[in-house]
Parts: sequence; structure tokens; C-alpha cells
Amino acid sequence: MSISNAPITNISAFNERRDIGPILSVVVPFYNEAEVLNEFHQRLEWVLTQIHGETEIIYVDDGSVDGSLDIVKEFSAPNCTIRCVELSRNFGKESAMSAGLNHAQGQAVVMIDADLQDPPELIPKMLCKWRAGFDVVNMKRTSRDGESWFKRFSAACFYKLLNKMTPLNVPENVGDFRLMSAKVVKHINALPERTRYMKGIFAWPGFNQTTIAFERDARYLGQTKWNYLRLIGLAMDGITSFSIRPLRIATILGALIAGSAFVYGLVIITKTMAFGEAVSGYPSTMVVQLALGGVQLLSIGLLGEYIGRIFVEVKQRPLYLVADVHNCAKAHCKNEALASFRENA
Ligand code: UDP
Ligand code: MG
Repeated sequence: MSISNAPITNISAFNERRDIGPILSVVVPFYNEAEVLNEFHQRLEWVLTQIHGETEIIYVDDGSVDGSLDIVKEFSAPNCTIRCVELSRNFGKESAMSAGLNHAQGQAVVMIDADLQDPPELIPKMLCKWRAGFDVVNMKRTSRDGESWFKRFSAACFYKLLNKMTPLNVPENVGDFRLMSAKVVKHINALPERTRYMKGIFAWPGFNQTTIAFERDARYLGQTKWNYLRLIGLAMDGITSFSIRPLRIATILGALIAGSAFVYGLVIITKTMAFGEAVSGYPSTMVVQLALGGVQLLSIGLLGEYIGRIFVEVKQRPLYLVADVHNCAKAHCKNEALASFRENA
């Protein structure tokens, strides 16, 4: 594992091709990122010019209303196809990422945020690992600059809970920034589910994985789009989309309480028969009632979570709607024939 964020200097190491005509797709979902997009694109473009062979950038405009799309439409980069998938409204990052993956045609696909928290300079290192034979290159944050201690603590607890509750092995502190081979992307695109907890979905296919550690920068400019309510929703999605263990825990809890109630009932009956009926026990009655009521409400809520997700799944609505696909910087594409073939495809 490498911890340095410095760009690698041995360029030929990552320019060796693993397949005939491999290309890299960089998928960038963005939502109201007008403040950072120019800087992001400049840095990404610089990195991509170091990579031999054709590359593509798939920007996904997740319903931005701050003019981000107009900025992206003006982007260009040498030897690189730039497309912007414009979604018809804000569908959320998980759907925007799915849209990007569906449009990516690269042999290797890198998913990256537009806010420069994930340094584009690390892409060559990721490509190196891919060329060494790995299908998934996870990027593990060693620091979470710009995030409160509470966010860091709750994130750590969540990853532990997720891995206990689900059969997945979701690596801790690995966000959406990662590289995947076309094979993995193909399997992810084939997953039909509507509730898309992408960190789980990325972990689900398995294959040959490796991890690179990196220091996550603070957001370059602008605000995070996630508030705690949204994060709690995402956490619930994560656990309930990949496991029915919470339901099993509710069943076990119910069985334990029913068993204890039976034993307690026997104790009361025996006491009443031995010592007669005494009008006491108000506190214990309240405790039992409140405990039972709490557990019942919790279990019903849990059932509701799963039923809600079944409801979403059976409707089979599309994950996102594409308003338009903009081809930016066509003139800069090295292989014009390939570019026009892709446009017509
Ligand atoms: N994003 C998006 N749709 C949304 C919310 C966010 O495409 O509904 C994008 C956002 O523009 C950024 C990335 O997802 O490129 C990460 O978002 P953010 O920085 O707000 O999340 P955080 O880094 O705080 O987890
Ligand atoms: Mg961010």
C-alpha cells in the first residue's frame, strides 16, 4: 500500500497496455459544483495528458441549477473524449454514478468526485495497479480533512455495523473514489436493483481487489451535499439492501422477550398460588409494557423499511432519466473514426 499523494514519476510503468486498445473512462458526477469544476477539470486534464492512449471523461450533471452544465460544455482536453450526461433532474449521487457507469466505455473506469477531495493525480497509480492485474482498486482515506470528529466517528461506527450486518466486505474509509475494470463495471451495470447503495454495490462483485491509501483533501470550494438526515437514509439503504439480518435480530429479540415473559408469568402464577393475590407490581407492569411496546414498534418500523424497499423495487422505475448527452471537445479526439462510431452507437 502506498500512502503518498505525489504523482508517480515513472510514466512508462502505467502506460504499458494490458489489452488491445484499452481506454480509461473517468466518471465524474456533479451537482451544483460551478465553483470547483474549472479547477477540477484543469487538474484532471493534466493527469490524462500523461496517459498514452485514448481516454474519456464522463461528466454526469445531476440536475445542477447553478450553471455547472454550461461550464462543462466548454471543456476540452487533448486526446480525450469528453461527454456530459445531463440528467433530467437531481436523482442523487448514487443514481448519477450509475448513469456514469452505464455510459462509460473504458477498459478501466475511475469514479471520482468533482470537489477535488479525491486527487485526480492518483489516477496513474490506480492504472498501474489495474495493469498489474487488479480488477478493483479501492482508495482508502487515511485522513478526512475538513470533516467533524462526529462525522468521522459515526462513519467508523457505520462501517463496522455494515460489515457485521451484511455478508459484504465493505472496506472501511473507502469511498466512491476507485478504479474498476470493464468486467466489474459490466456486472454492476447488470444489477437490476433500484435502491443503489453504491459502496455495497461496488463491493458486491468481488474479483481481484487491491487498496491504495491516500490522504483525502478537504473540499476545494463549495458545500457538501449531504446532511445528517440524508446520511442516515443512506446508512439504512446500505444495511437493508444487502442483508436481512436486522429482521432476524428482531425475530430473535421477539423470541427472547416472549420466552422471558413466559418464565415471568410462571413466577407470578406460582407466587399468587402460594401467597395469594397482592395488588402490587405497577412498576414491573410498566417496565414490561414499555419494553414490549418499544421492541414491537422498532420491529414494525424495520419491517416497514424492507416493505418500502420492496415497494420501490416492484415499481421498476428507471434509476435516472437522461435529458441529453453533450459531446464536448470532439475536435480534440485523437481517433475521429472511433469517436463518430461511438456517437452513432
Ligand atoms: N453529488 C451528486 N448528486 C447529489 C449530491 C452530490 O452528483 O445529489 C456529487 C457532488 O457534486 C460531488 C460528489 O457527488 O461531486 C460528492 O458530493 P459531496 O462532496 O457533497 O459529498 P461528500 O464528499 O461530502 O461525501
Ligand atoms: Mg465531497
